[in-house]
Amino acid sequence: MDLNYSDKQQAFRAEVRAWLQANVPAEPLASFDTEQGFAQHRAWEAKLNQGRWGMVTWPQELGGRGCDLIEWLIFEEEYYRSGAPARVNQNGIFLLGPTLMEYGTPAQQARFLPKMATGEEVWAQGWSEPGAGSDMAAIRCKAVREGDEFVINGQKTWSTRAVWADWLFGMFRTDPQSSRHHGLTFILVPLDAPGITVRPIPQLDGLPGFAEVFFDDVRVPVDNILGGIGQGWQVAMSTAGFERGLMLRSPARFQEAARRLVQLYLANRESADRDPSVGEAVMRAWLDAEAYCLNTYMTASRLIGGGKIGAESSTNKIFWSELDLRLHATALSILGARAELLAHAPAAGEVGRWLDGFLFAQAGPIYAGTNEIQRNIIAERMLGMPRA
Ligand SMILES: Cc1cc2nc3c(=O)[nH]c(=O)nc-3n(C[C@H](O)[C@H](O)[C@H](O)COP(=O)(O)OP(=O)(O)OC[C@H]3O[C@@H](n4cnc5c(N)ncnc54)[C@H](O)[C@@H]3O)c2cc1C
Repeated sequence: MDLNYSDKQQAFRAEVRAWLQANVPAEPLASFDTEQGFAQHRAWEAKLNQGRWGMVTWPQELGGRGCDLIEWLIFEEEYYRSGAPARVNQNGIFLLGPTLMEYGTPAQQARFLPKMATGEEVWAQGWSEPGAGSDMAAIRCKAVREGDEFVINGQKTWSTRAVWADWLFGMFRTDPQSSRHHGLTFILVPLDAPGITVRPIPQLDGLPGFAEVFFDDVRVPVDNILGGIGQGWQVAMSTAGFERGLMLRSPARFQEAARRLVQLYLANRESADRDPSVGEAVMRAWLDAEAYCLNTYMTASRLIGGGKIGAESSTNKIFWSELDLRLHATALSILGARAELLAHAPAAGEVGRWLDGFLFAQAGPIYAGTNEIQRNIIAERMLGMPRA
């Protein structure tokens, strides 16, 4: 691992920074958990794509820049530093996009990737069901083949941004005799298909950040499957690899939050220092964000050198989600009663942003595989302990 940036990497950083300086909206967009904010974020995705900054690791012929992971980390550092909007199509570009490149037919890639890149089609993930969360192999939502179509019946839940998304990728039980991870198929479903009901679920902040999706005789062409009938588990595991691996939460997100935390502490030092543990917590948050960054650079260097990411992606997930919780709890303890303004409250400004971040941080140990499940993976696959 080389800790110095090459001239090419420095030039890349300068190019990203200049583009973002010229293009990041001066005013923050509305939350993408509102209809207006969703539309604003969709427009931002289109703008990013025009500049070929939508997904820098995608190949050039698909509108990316063919960047390696170190360049991606540099891009992310500049992105968070600039205060650019959150990525409304994250499920598409970070999760489904790479999966389509691995398992999709050329026709599927041509059909789905360009509209994903422009934000014209925003994707929701449909894996969880009321009885299948951590235990994803318990999926019951079924898809029965009738000629050239699948007929889907059942329910998905906790589907992020499904309220305004256009498409959903999910796993469905296509073999009614099967159990567990056999007989599942990965299917791409348009959310405006007849028979679909999307019911919003309000989050802690009251906004409909996710939804339940009900399927009542929903017909989709057999061509909408990814990776073959009955291969759903294998395809989904590759998507989960991207998610839990490097790309779900880049270190820059936490480094930027840690920088803001240091500023908040310095601006309120007189009151904050009445409790000496606050200064220590600020320092720890900053150090942990830096440590996560260095660790990610190390992993990225190993992957570029041909290595693979394995069970250690579980340690990453636990580390960043717990760091995020501590970091935001520290910010709230500095703000005291002022912290109670939600980000979308009028005139909430920076204070509201901290509470918003705190509320969202509560979800970190749950989504993308709960931290308990990650600990099971570490115990079994890294430490060689017996299965629970
Ligand atoms: C913000 C957010 C966004 C999400 N977005 C999506 C999305 O877009 N699409 C989607 O499909 N899902 C999404 N989810 C759902 C998420 O994947 C599930 O919540 C998660 O997998 C846990 O499943 P569950 O909620 O059913 O809890 P359960 O699986 O019922 O778990 C309940 C508790 O038991 C623990 N537990 C369960 N099994 C074990 C075990 N074997 N060992 C030890 N402890 C165990 C869990 O860790 C947890 O604490 C999202 C969740 C959140 C919070």
